[in-house]
Amino acid sequence: MPKIIRTISALRELLANNNSVALVPTMGALHAGHISLVEYARTKANTVVVSIFVNPTQFGVGEDFDKYPKTENEDIEKLRGKADIVFIPSVTEIYPEGYATTVSVSGNITQVLCGKSRPTHFNGVATVVSKLLMIAMPNVAIFGEKDYQQLLIIKRVVADLNIPVDVIGCPIVREKDGLALSSRNRYLNDSERTTAPMIYKTLCEIKDGLPIDEAKQKLTKAGFKIDYLEIRDNKTLEILEKPTNSARIFIATYLGNCRLIDNISSKI
Ligand code: AMP
Repeated sequence: MPKIIRTISALRELLANNNSVALVPTMGALHAGHISLVEYARTKANTVVVSIFVNPTQFGVGEDFDKYPKTENEDIEKLRGKADIVFIPSVTEIYPEGYATTVSVSGNITQVLCGKSRPTHFNGVATVVSKLLMIAMPNVAIFGEKDYQQLLIIKRVVADLNIPVDVIGCPIVREKDGLALSSRNRYLNDSERTTAPMIYKTLCEIKDGLPIDEAKQKLTKAGFKIDYLEIRDNKTLEILEKPTNSARIFIATYLGNCRLIDNISSKI
């Protein structure tokens, strides 16, 4: 069984003088996508730490913080034989009384896509990830391309703040029908779950030449409420007219009450 650690001091003590640590930050409700990151972490370091922390500062007003799935026992079970340490701090351990600092990332990469629809989200992410990196001081930190914009922002923060860690992105794990695994997929009812694979299918069609406007019409007709569907440069997130070899196609859409995001490389 992995060691369950709930305080910063205990984690620091356990990792003191350890020069081969990989950290996989998560919000729990673990699925095969998370586990793929943990397995990759194992190839990169001797000690694998998974953090489980539903970070309140990255949820906006009216978002699903209160009902975000919490499945701690199942998560620990899934990490058996895969992680060495599971770090599960409380909210007050991370944000004690008097806490007053935010890591704020400016520029295009934080202002477009999810940064536009969720204006406080990425400062919350940048803050908590900076803290987790400072707490665990890992050699490598592993993130999923599922949250591609988040990955770019974390790379920016680590470079800008000179945090000595190697940030690595891993590919998106999907269901057989193409739906990207997400802790939020459990919010989908049966009929929404049947419709949801259209997201990935449509991204692939755009890559193959389907115009964005037509793709939007098709998805809207099927019941999606699109937040954004855009082609952007895979490093700067500048908007592009057409898929290119250095672009990604990004989508965020509501299906019922569930907000789903996905993206694919448009490299041929
Ligand atoms: P979350 O628990 O949703 O904050 O995700 C924790 C980490 O798992 C993030 O780096 C995500 O990008 C990554 N992740 C979530 N879903 C997937 C997926 N389907 N495939 C690969 N990585 C994922």
